[in-house]
Order: sequence, then C-alpha cells, then structure tokens
Amino acid sequence: MNVISTNTPTAELQALDAAHHLHPFTHAAALNKKGARIITRAEGCWLTDSEGNRILDGMAGLWCVNVGYGRRELADAAHRQMMELPFYNTFFQTSHVPAIALSTKLAELAPGTLNHVFFAGSGSEANDTNLRMVRAYWMQKGQPERQWIISRWNGYHGSTVGAGSLGGMKPMHTQGVPTIPGIAHIDQPNWWSEGGDLSPEEFGLERARQLEAKILELGPENVAAFIAEPVQGAGGVIVAPDSYWPEIQRIVKKYGILLIADEVICGFGRTGNWFGSQTLGIQPDIMTIAKGLSSGYQPIGGSIVSDEVAEVIGSMEFNHGYTYSGHPVACAVALENLRILEEDGIVDRVREDTAPYLKTKFEALAEHPLVGEAKIVGMMGSIALTPDKASRAAFASEAGTVGLICRERCFANNLIMRHVYDRMILSPALVISKSEIDTLIDRAWQCLDETHAKLK
Ligand code: PLP
Repeated sequence: MNVISTNTPTAELQALDAAHHLHPFTHAAALNKKGARIITRAEGCWLTDSEGNRILDGMAGLWCVNVGYGRRELADAAHRQMMELPFYNTFFQTSHVPAIALSTKLAELAPGTLNHVFFAGSGSEANDTNLRMVRAYWMQKGQPERQWIISRWNGYHGSTVGAGSLGGMKPMHTQGVPTIPGIAHIDQPNWWSEGGDLSPEEFGLERARQLEAKILELGPENVAAFIAEPVQGAGGVIVAPDSYWPEIQRIVKKYGILLIADEVICGFGRTGNWFGSQTLGIQPDIMTIAKGLSSGYQPIGGSIVSDEVAEVIGSMEFNHGYTYSGHPVACAVALENLRILEEDGIVDRVREDTAPYLKTKFEALAEHPLVGEAKIVGMMGSIALTPDKASRAAFASEAGTVGLICRERCFANNLIMRHVYDRMILSPALVISKSEIDTLIDRAWQCLDETHAKLK
C-alpha cells in the first residue's frame, strides 16, 4: 500500500485531497484548480506547510488555539488519560474524574450562578442541546407554549440542522434542508454596513429594540430565549455599539426570557476576560462553549447553565445526550488547557498587555486608503474594506471579491487572515508576542497595499 505521509510530494497530496476529501465551506472547483495548502506542523503562532513555508497564523486555527500550538502538557494529559480511562460514558448514573474536575473548574471560572455544565463534542452540538434544553425548561415550568427562540441574521451558531437554523447565515438556510420551526431572526448590530445616517449609539438602540418588537410580535408568552454571540465572529467580527447590550439585557429581563450567550469564540480569554459576557457586561442564563475550552487540541463543547436552569432541568429526566458528552480524554485536555491559561497568566496578559498593544496597531490600519473601520476587542478584530471611507460604501463588485483578493495576498505573504465578504478578520493565539504582533501588522499593511494595487 502507498503510505501517505508528510514526505509525500505536495502535488500528490493535493491531488488525493481534491479526489477524496470533501472540505467544509469550500467550493470543490477551487480545490481542483489550485490545490489546498497543506499544513504539516505548528509551533506557537506559526504554521509550517508541506513546501516548508513558515506562516504566521492570525486566526489561531479556527479561532480556537488559544494557548498556541505545540504545548507538550496537553499531549501528555491526553496520553495519561488514554492509558488510564480512554472512554466511559456519563449516561445512566455514571461519571468519571475528568468530567467532574472540568465541570467543577468551569463552575469556578464562569460568572454569576453559571455552575452546571452539559458537555457536547462541539459548539454546534452544544447549541443543539440549548435548543432542546430551553424548550424543555419552559415545558417543565408549565409554560410549554414558550417555544420561540430569537436569534440574529448573520450570527453563527454551528452547522448541524438545529444550530444552522438557529444561526442567521442565509446561504445555510437555503441549502439542503428546511430550517427547523420556532426560530425567528432580528437584524445584526452592524453599524458600518447597515447604520445609515444613525450614530452608532442610536443604531445600537434601534437594533436592540428589534428584539422587543419581535417578542411583542410573537407574543411574550410564546418566547423561550434569545441567543447571540457577545461579539459576532464568523459574521465578520461585528462589535455592537456600546448602547446595544444594556438595552438587550433590559428587554430580556422585562419579558423574562432566557439569554444564551454563544461564547464559542469569545470564551476562554479571547476578549481579554475569561468570557466575552464579562467584557460586554452581559448576564446570560446559559453560555455555549467550545473551541478555546481545549484550545482545539480535542473536540469538546458544552453549555454552562445557571443554578435556576439546572434546577428546573434536573427536576425531570432530560432525554438528551451524546456518546462523547464529557469524553474523558477531551475533558482531561481541556482541564490542562485551563490550567495553562490560568497559571501562565495568559488571560490577564491579553487584557493588560498584548491586547492593548495590538489594539493601537490594529486601529491604525484604518489609515490605509482601502480600510474603513478597524474594530477590535481583545484578540478578535476586523477591518472593513471600502472604496470610499466617507460614505462607508461597498465595492461595485460582488460582495467578497475584494476580500478574497486580500486573503490571497495574505496567503502569498505567509499570513493567515480570513475574509468574510469584504471584511478581513483576525483572531490570533492569545500567546502572540509583541514582536509577532509587529510582524503581523507589517504583513497586513503589505497585503492591503498589494490588494489596493490590484484594484487599480
Ligand atoms: N458558535 C459559534 C459562535 C461559532 O463561532 C461556532 C463555530 O465557529 C459554533 C458555534 C460551532 O462550533 P463547532 O464548529 O465546534 O460546531
């Protein structure tokens, strides 16, 4: 048999990849035309590809490798746990030490009364749990008509049928399956693209009040929950105006509906606190977690829920669970990851040192002729590309055309930045150093210059 390894020539790997591997969110024609870039190893914030290029990873993998690549302690934790107890389930009144230790640690880290964790294998699965859990919660409380869950257009909550329906990515709603019933969407707080003549503060209030209007339209007695990311990630790192979250908080309280903060990206230090809810002043009843929970070293997600939600859910058998809910190896690795984040002072360093440093440099990108706004919270930021800053205009070309050119320039300059339509987004590992930030910003300028030149 032909053994495929990192020694296999790149062209051969690319051909096999295009022939046999179906990629998420990828047009296969693009892979056939130009093979995938094949990543072979990584250390810190740096990737190495099969051609030997060293690439600065400005996306921490997929917003997840918070402690950086190559942490031996995480591999050791996985090895130890695999030797001791590689698998056992947490169904039917059984438990194991890694799930107990991780849930206890998460209860300690999470704000307020968020003291209980339901584990899943990913962020999508955790949001599917939330869908069922909030409806089960209201049924158990004798209000079964509370079925509606309100979400936001251009929010992202995952790719399963449930989570994809919950999210507000329109291309996902029109492909494959009808969305599930009982989910309504309101507009996103994206001032740059949709704010018109309103000030950011006026616009933030206007968008938050859409939630109240939607609750009244559906009937407050029929609404179960509102779900949102503290900072929209996959939608393009959309940071809501300051007026937005306090108004949302007022509205959910007034109508007594549950608030779910999807912390899959924002959690575990990304915004400079353990959770984005703390940075944005949000008091959720449920938080969705994944990604940075294990820094991506193991697939694991979950829902952290309040004492009150846990009490209601715990007063019946919740008919829900995954084989890998609380997988011992994933839990052991996540626990070790949290230890590293805490004991190495990574979250504090982000908040007090590296994120402020990055913010100054990142916001200066707005001086580039191609850049409108540059917004950043902690270690997640985005720049809006525009042909005219003053009018916040979009390009005449199909949305995403210029962003794609810029992403290609980033690839060519050994920098990973992703594009969402014509926004370029950044989410590096939290361990990025100041000198690496300098390199990243220098390369970003270079890529913007090259993109600008190509448009002329
Ligand atoms: N929620 C948010 C906010 C996300 O960004 C993502 C993934 O990017 C998900 C949920 C889905 O997580 P997963 O890809 O682990 O299923």
